[in-house]
Amino acid sequence: MAYYCKDCSYRGKTSGQVGECPACGSFNLQKDIEQEKKPPPAKWRLVVLAVLWGYLIALIIWKLVH
Ligand SMILES: [Zn+2]
Repeated sequence: MAYYCKDCSYRGKTSGQVGECPACGSFNLQKDIEQEKKPPPAKWRLVVLAVLWGYLIALIIWKLVH
């Protein structure tokens, strides 16, 4: 769990003893759960890359044959 301060934009794993911001002392601290999430792997990028490489190799072979 990470914390995010709305006042000074502090971002860290710890908060103060009474839940205040360790950087500026504000109580405008928010538990940041978005930071823990990771974006899903883009599998379509690998597919596009494979198709482009296949096209390039096919083009080279076609040029060699003709
Ligand atoms: Zn702060």
